[in-house]
Amino acid sequence: MVADPMPTLRELAASLEAGERSSLELVEQSLTRARECESLAAFLSLREDGAREEARAADRRRAAGERRSPLDGIPIAIKDNITKRGETAGCASRILEGYRSPFDATALARLEAAGCIVVGRTNMDEFAMGSSTENSAYGPSRNPWDPERAPGGSSGGSAVAVAAGVVPVALGSDTGGSIRQPASFTGIVGMKPTYGRVSRLGLVAFASSLDQIGPFARTARDCAWVLDAMSGNDPGDSTSLPDPPTRSTDALTDALEMGDLDGLRIGLPSEYFELEGAAPGVIERVREAVAELEAAGARTVPVSLPNSRFAVACYYLVATAEASSNLARFDGARYGRRAAGAADVGEMIERSRSEGFGAEVKRRILLGTFVLSAGYYDAYYKKAQQVRTLLRDDFGRAFEECDVIAAPTSPETAFRFGEKADPLALYLSDVYTVSANLTGTPAVSVPCGLSEGLPVGLQLIGPARGDETILRVADAYQQRTSHHEARPPLAGAGA
Ligand code: GLN
Repeated sequence: MVADPMPTLRELAASLEAGERSSLELVEQSLTRARECESLAAFLSLREDGAREEARAADRRRAAGERRSPLDGIPIAIKDNITKRGETAGCASRILEGYRSPFDATALARLEAAGCIVVGRTNMDEFAMGSSTENSAYGPSRNPWDPERAPGGSSGGSAVAVAAGVVPVALGSDTGGSIRQPASFTGIVGMKPTYGRVSRLGLVAFASSLDQIGPFARTARDCAWVLDAMSGNDPGDSTSLPDPPTRSTDALTDALEMGDLDGLRIGLPSEYFELEGAAPGVIERVREAVAELEAAGARTVPVSLPNSRFAVACYYLVATAEASSNLARFDGARYGRRAAGAADVGEMIERSRSEGFGAEVKRRILLGTFVLSAGYYDAYYKKAQQVRTLLRDDFGRAFEECDVIAAPTSPETAFRFGEKADPLALYLSDVYTVSANLTGTPAVSVPCGLSEGLPVGLQLIGPARGDETILRVADAYQQRTSHHEARPPLAGAGA
């Protein structure tokens, strides 16, 4: 077993500033660690030479007193649906084999402008559709806490890359929980920002009204730092908020005193804590976490989200509808793979899509096309949009009573591969996460202990533009607890 060598982003940045370590050393360490953990299949590709070259350049900048930011020279990983110029962006799908992006995603461009170095592209459910990475065309990633279990998804590879100590930070995307749920399954922090905070330009679209890029890290503090560096208006994304970048790091205080959360109201939705099918061990850990926040001065208030029971159904109508439209562009002509030997264009498109897409993606395209079809539009798509408004009203009312909502991130801890082979069972496990996407609100998952040896996530949901608040509460919680310091038993999972 190899000890987990990767400190937090904050510690790494401090060691670079102090000249104790070079960026090249950090990048080499990441690459070595990635190889040690190869059996976890966190990565689809590594940028060995490119990353080394950029690290040398970062070291030269530091030596010349010209470092771009405190993040200059830090290795990061990105999900395979985030574009980087000249490189693949395959979304873990066969249909994008051979595709290379002509441009950088804005979020990534901003992190690179700050000096971050991409060491690799991480595994995911095909087109971000799933909650386990089992839908990746290249096979699943494995959970470092138990390689027979899923790391969650769809951003499972990014979560594993951080949890196994390959990188201090990774980017994922969250359409219905794909950052928060894998963060919770692997014992790290994962955040979905307010819709529109982070540009979606260069994030391959799954469901455009729900998708957001967000960070994974060991601490809320590290997430805050990354969010501040990549958020802010982007004219290239028409749904981008007009706001300047977040200043969440400023909202954090170094040494928390007792009572630092004085006055903070934490809403506890009865529907979430009384959910049938939620594992008792999960509810217990989350209640303990809430008690810890109370000990820090917060007080709890009961709130109600009466339309929560419709959230999963609403999400799978909206998300599939948007997916069917977004994925129409993958036709064998414009991007990536084209089926050979077709007699005409129609057959070429049909065969490219039949061969290129996996079963779950096809299921969603069929569902989405159905709910948008003339005869069923009113019954399904329109109804779902109406429910979405009701959900937004529920959250609006709740946030009149409280500042943040506390909830579990997932009703269960990491499940075994194949355990949720029925797509519906998997869909239902998104019950706690989809509402933040449907309502555009920010949410973060923070490790809050183990249940039967597996990590549990506390989810903190804030009102729209409440990104700083939820990160501050998550940071306060982490300053008072050490759950995020727990390391998987297979820290050296390559062994
Ligand atoms: N599990 C959800 C789905 O399969 C969410 C995915 C995501 O957030 N990308 O759609």
